[in-house]
Amino acid sequence: MVLDSLGKSLRAVLQKIARGSAVDDALLAEVVRDIQRALLQADVNVELTLQLTERVKRRAKEEKPPAGSSLRDFLIRIIYEEIRGILGKDRTFEFRPRRILLAGLFGQGKTTTAGKLARQFQKKGVRVGLIAADVHRPAAIDQLEQLARKVGCEFYANRSERRADAVVRDGLAAFPPHFAILVDTAGRSAIDAELITELKTIHGVLHPDETILVLDAAMGQSAGRSAKAFQEAVGLTGVIITKLDGSAKGGGALSAVAASGAPILFVGTGEHLDELERFDPTRFVSRLLGMGDLQTLLERFEDLRGKEEAQKASEHLMSGRFTLRDLRTQLNSLGQMGSFSKLLSFFPGLGSGKIDESKLNETQTQLKRYRTMLDSMTPGELDDATIIKSERAHRIARGSGHKPPEVRALLKYYETTKKAAHGIASNRRIRRQLERQMTQGGASPPP
Ligand code: GDP
Ligand code: MG
Repeated sequence: MVLDSLGKSLRAVLQKIARGSAVDDALLAEVVRDIQRALLQADVNVELTLQLTERVKRRAKEEKPPAGSSLRDFLIRIIYEEIRGILGKDRTFEFRPRRILLAGLFGQGKTTTAGKLARQFQKKGVRVGLIAADVHRPAAIDQLEQLARKVGCEFYANRSERRADAVVRDGLAAFPPHFAILVDTAGRSAIDAELITELKTIHGVLHPDETILVLDAAMGQSAGRSAKAFQEAVGLTGVIITKLDGSAKGGGALSAVAASGAPILFVGTGEHLDELERFDPTRFVSRLLGMGDLQTLLERFEDLRGKEEAQKASEHLMSGRFTLRDLRTQLNSLGQMGSFSKLLSFFPGLGSGKIDESKLNETQTQLKRYRTMLDSMTPGELDDATIIKSERAHRIARGSGHKPPEVRALLKYYETTKKAAHGIASNRRIRRQLERQMTQGGASPPP
């Protein structure tokens, strides 16, 4: 995993929130300090860091958590959103026959990245022609040729031609139109007039669909300035950040480039040809924070926000007037929120990380059973669980294809949830009880 230490520190922050006794000013201050330290250590710009934590603080104090969500979960969500926010926009990248120009300074990883990209195109069934337009160093041409052989794609070079634009023109003529064309260019030690002129003349004959700047993560924050300079000089459609595997400054490079406005398309995570990953800010943050694939979940969370039913159920939950009907609403909204494992990974407070996949499946099956039993109840029963004695329990069991002990298990689960809701949900004893119930095949409490 890239940005390992940043991820670790941020995950520790989330754990602190999940385990803390209450979300109060003291915890918030501590959390803000921890996030600042983590981001600064990853070389994220000081001002950017302060703005981010300022927003976390303000939102935690001013915004109200959506119905059915605790303050704890809400704070985690805010942190997620704000960190997501400094990584820029999602952008699509199409693997179809297109013309791609790779630019950048010396040693940043252009040639290697050209090979990696070629491999991804080929894997998706698009044939690739690599053009060696780094005409100044014969070694660079050999390097690209070797990569082409490894990837199994076509290659064009002209070792006696000194003009890069001429090489590109001839290379284009050498490949059929259904090929994706990747052009590797020469770097310089700094962005200078010569480099810009060369890139512009190449641009003139290639008419690239993508002009991509390749940047080494070790540049840290200065990657942002570099991106801006190239953007102004030749225009960019995106950036690839390489060597994220070896750099402690990756956070700085990613956030600074995002701030420059150029979307980050890929990240290089190793020297090997397969080590190039699409950069999807949303998924990246989810992984960094150890939260699984959050996007879908967050969208559904959003849907829930406005749902009156869920609102009412959670009000009932708080006031203790929580009925089986409310329980059904809760379980249904759990169902809507997608897989239970995702849900648990979203709420670290529920002890995620310790629960294995088979237990999760069990829990999910259990929830489904509960829902079918609830569907077999009469309105009277849904409103007042106390009327469910032996005879009714038998009828509900029969109606839903279950056994009476399972109905009793549901009623017990309902009682525990109701009790937990009496403001003692954070009480460790109840939590243990719920967790025990869950590992015995009962369900975990709704958040
Ligand atoms: P260029 O001068 O911009 O064409 O850079 P090269 O492609 O020749 O790469 C320079 C060095 O960086 C080489 O030793 C590559 O193996 C290495 N490199 C490129 N990308 C990555 C990456 O994502 N991770 C690591 N660890 N090394 C990389
Ligand atoms: Mg090169």
